[in-house]
Amino acid sequence: MAADRRAELAANLAAVRREISRACADAGRDPAEVTLIAITKLFPASDVALLAGLGVADVGENRDQEAAAKARECEGIDLRWHFVGQLQTNKARSVAGYASVVHSVDRPQLVDALSRAAGRTDRSLRCLVQVSFDAGSDSGPGRGGAAPEDLPELADRIASAPALTLGGVMAVAPLGVEPGPVFARLAELAADLRERHPEATWISTGMSDDLTAAIAHGATHLRIGRRLLGERPSRR
Ligand SMILES: *Cc1c(COP(=O)(O)O)cnc(C)c1O
Repeated sequence: MAADRRAELAANLAAVRREISRACADAGRDPAEVTLIAITKLFPASDVALLAGLGVADVGENRDQEAAAKARECEGIDLRWHFVGQLQTNKARSVAGYASVVHSVDRPQLVDALSRAAGRTDRSLRCLVQVSFDAGSDSGPGRGGAAPEDLPELADRIASAPALTLGGVMAVAPLGVEPGPVFARLAELAADLRERHPEATWISTGMSDDLTAAIAHGATHLRIGRRLLGERPSRR
């Protein structure tokens, strides 16, 4: 069983890495500039351990309760945990306990909560501003993200928080639209941000279905779930 699953994950990982290499070659980029984050939500800690054994160093989760339990189960495995989901301020302290990076910072209160939480730990927490490109003011059910015009102020707030490091930007391409123009806009916003904050070099975008377009537009961090782990079991 475990051997079968390991072989399946190894094959998926090899296929994703090949696609990353091909997309980088097409874009004239060095694959070393692109970090693969395995999004392991709804899959067991045993899969995280198998992926780590296959050389994956970065894993991501979108719910605190599940992530906290999984990170505990994987204690002793050298991994960077990324939090990529919508986050309530009352979960900030828990997330700061295991995560190295929060990709989904989208409002000032969350910056302040993460800053207080990270201040209690002995390491700095890297934060990305999640930008929403969904039409209208509501970014849709459960997706989150700040309006593009709010990015500079949120970034300044993160950069000035002693326990936080500004990493850059994150986005999820809206459903049902061509992702290329969205990724191009995100790249522009990221370039503007780097003029003020040169350290903010991360562009976290690109998922299972749009990773090639993301790489073409400068993504530095891909968040890949289904292509690595298979179709997700449904939440109970
Ligand atoms: C689930 C999830 C992903 C991975 O999506 P796939 O389509 O399975 O690759 C990436 N980012 C976020 C924020 C997610 O919640």
